[in-house]
Amino acid sequence: MFAKVWRVVLDNFHPFVIAGPLTFAYHEAVYFGAWTPWLAMDQFEYFKRWKIQPDKTPSKEMVMKCLTKLLKSHVFIQLPMQMMFYFVAPYFGFSLAMEALPKSRDLLWQIPVFFAIEDFYFYWVHRGLHHKRVYKYVHKIHHEHKFPFGIAAEYAHPVETFFLGIGTLLGPLFFAKHMVTLWVWLFFRLVETVEDHSGYDVPWNPTNLIPFWGGAVHHDFHHKTFEGPYSSVFTWCDWMFGTDKEFRKHQLKLRGGSESLAYPAVFRGAPNERSLPSKKVD
Ligand SMILES: [Zn+2]
Ligand SMILES: [Zn+2]
Repeated sequence: MFAKVWRVVLDNFHPFVIAGPLTFAYHEAVYFGAWTPWLAMDQFEYFKRWKIQPDKTPSKEMVMKCLTKLLKSHVFIQLPMQMMFYFVAPYFGFSLAMEALPKSRDLLWQIPVFFAIEDFYFYWVHRGLHHKRVYKYVHKIHHEHKFPFGIAAEYAHPVETFFLGIGTLLGPLFFAKHMVTLWVWLFFRLVETVEDHSGYDVPWNPTNLIPFWGGAVHHDFHHKTFEGPYSSVFTWCDWMFGTDKEFRKHQLKLRGGSESLAYPAVFRGAPNERSLPSKKVD
């Protein structure tokens, strides 16, 4: 499948266009596309049962402000970064060639590895951004959203967009050798970050099956309280480095005194107080 699509891309575009504007357009399509199911859910009362902060809905003004800022940062920060990647990537053995297309079995191990690398990098940079000396200059902007919604994921100061963006490119720079790998990775990474900010913890979400996956419950708590957890993807960094204490206390209270069975590997399924009808106190 990759081969057919990539043949069409190579036949129609110059490599610089593929790495720059085309990757940019792909990013926009996936990012805003990943938001649409969450946006649709916002329109129906029925889905409130799985909303993490059920009484909070973003106003139209908030969404419009977010959209305007995002478009500016996408054009003036992300697009130049992608163009820069075009010039840097060949030094790391990166290619766009047909013969170098990745095999599906390579992607199967690379995508989880990229998530782990990105998560570790994100944890420390994000934790650094919360240092009281720098917080108000950079990261405060991302925290304008105390009850985030999908596209609030990339709503951030340009400095933050740049430094956290490096984390997304780290894994591919060291382990991937092809633009297709970057595109596949971008797809999963964008869907993940939009989910993190979706404001929903729905029981049918396939990510519920991934051990140690933080999901929206984990990151939403960070937006609500400014406390840890700081990770983007998994729960293990905050657990190991002790920055999930407030989150765990909150979960314990929410669940009426009993923590989930296997925290930090599994803890989801409790978006809000109303979602657990039979609370039991130990
Ligand atoms: Zn933060
Ligand atoms: Zn966030």
